[in-house]
Amino acid sequence: MHQMIIRNASIIDGSGKDRYRADILIVGDRIGAIGNLADRSEYAGIEQRDAEGLVLCPGFIDAHSHDDNALLRDPGMAPKVTQGVTTVVTGNCGISLAPLVSKSPPSPLDLIAADDPLAFRYETFADYMTALEEKPAAVNTAPMVGHSTLRIAAMTDIDRPATAGEIAEMRRLLREAIEAGAVGFSTGLFYPSSRAAPAEEVVAVLQALEGSQAVYTTHMRDEADEIDASLEESFETARQANVPLIISHHKCMGKRNFGRTTETLKRIERAAQEQDVSFDVYPYEAGSTVLLQDLADKSYRVRLTRSKPHPEMVGRELADVAAEWGVTEHEAMQRLSPGGAVYYMMDQADVDRVLKHDLAMIGSDGMPHDHFPHPRLWGTFPRVLGHYARDRGLFSLEMAIHRMTGLTARKFHLEGRGTISEGAFADLVLLDPEKIIDRATFDDPTAPADGIQAVFVNGEAVLDKGALTAARPGRVLRHAEVRESAVL
Ligand SMILES: [Zn+2]
Repeated sequence: MHQMIIRNASIIDGSGKDRYRADILIVGDRIGAIGNLADRSEYAGIEQRDAEGLVLCPGFIDAHSHDDNALLRDPGMAPKVTQGVTTVVTGNCGISLAPLVSKSPPSPLDLIAADDPLAFRYETFADYMTALEEKPAAVNTAPMVGHSTLRIAAMTDIDRPATAGEIAEMRRLLREAIEAGAVGFSTGLFYPSSRAAPAEEVVAVLQALEGSQAVYTTHMRDEADEIDASLEESFETARQANVPLIISHHKCMGKRNFGRTTETLKRIERAAQEQDVSFDVYPYEAGSTVLLQDLADKSYRVRLTRSKPHPEMVGRELADVAAEWGVTEHEAMQRLSPGGAVYYMMDQADVDRVLKHDLAMIGSDGMPHDHFPHPRLWGTFPRVLGHYARDRGLFSLEMAIHRMTGLTARKFHLEGRGTISEGAFADLVLLDPEKIIDRATFDDPTAPADGIQAVFVNGEAVLDKGALTAARPGRVLRHAEVRESAVL
């Protein structure tokens, strides 16, 4: 087994505790020992690397990704590896690649299709997991199942609530996925593909999670004027189904809702006293998704990230394109669809408040197939560490790292990940705390971050001395075994 010692590192272990100085022994895919190791005779002859002045921490877990298809198409996963990400949670916002066979599923599933008519080709979730294992990526995958995907697979018409028979079919598909090891189920009740689903439908489908450790994540029905009702719906749904709840990309959208996170966070805290609730957040005041009029109406600026019929307009403002064409923005959006955009619709003070909260996990929500993507795809994690922790002092580097490692592993039940401890998997990042910073901006959205020196996934370097390697050690992370008590 390959062994290596990283010596003199300043270790931030992912728990939120203060850093300490130690050497670390990597044995195969695990952390074999921690302590004063470098000069011990039993380790003589083992490869050593000096980490003087650097921080060694657990690899980052992207709590909110849309990398379902990117993992298969671009297994090098450069946008994530260059940030220090070693695990991505997929299947967010109700959108997963499996289980669904369809040549042209409706929006927002195009968000992960990458214009590939054969993207949705997995009849079962196990088939998708097998595909990931046959062609491993550089990073680990913790996959979830999307509600919209299930609806499209099981229903003849998604513009209405599911019938009892359709619910039974969704539950069967979800059960299959959970038994294959899916770590959770997500909804995107905001999107047209799931908008017609009442809470009762979600509760009924969620019964497939019974007896498992799988979580429920939700892109809520409304993140604007009706956010309180949406939060209550989310709490109630999770409570009835008796599952842990993770609210996706928590925000308050639209100018008239600026400042309201003071209330929403209190509401979440109250619920968290009764049930397991947390949320993820990306560190920007603009969001991004498919083209939707509803979102454009709440934004003070809209910029195009992708357009199938008009790729030449990507990177430009919707308002400029509309003016150039001499049409309304609404009309321009219809001509540009299917596509995607960056929507400026948040208040920086809200973003700060959410990031600082103890229940916040960091998730990029990056869009890997956009041609001019939101910079969060390449910048999220170094931005939290460099801009928010070091430069603005919003929280300590230890707390920033906890929100992207230990906390996330605990909430998603990813055993052996997210901490530096003996016996844990050697998913590790070596970074320069003085230099770490995002370089991706809204004008130059794919610039890699600075300050990440090395990234190890299951003990293998996927980035070394700042450069990507050819190693593809990523695994599919299955949640702990479904308990026997579960009966459908
Ligand atoms: Zn979402």
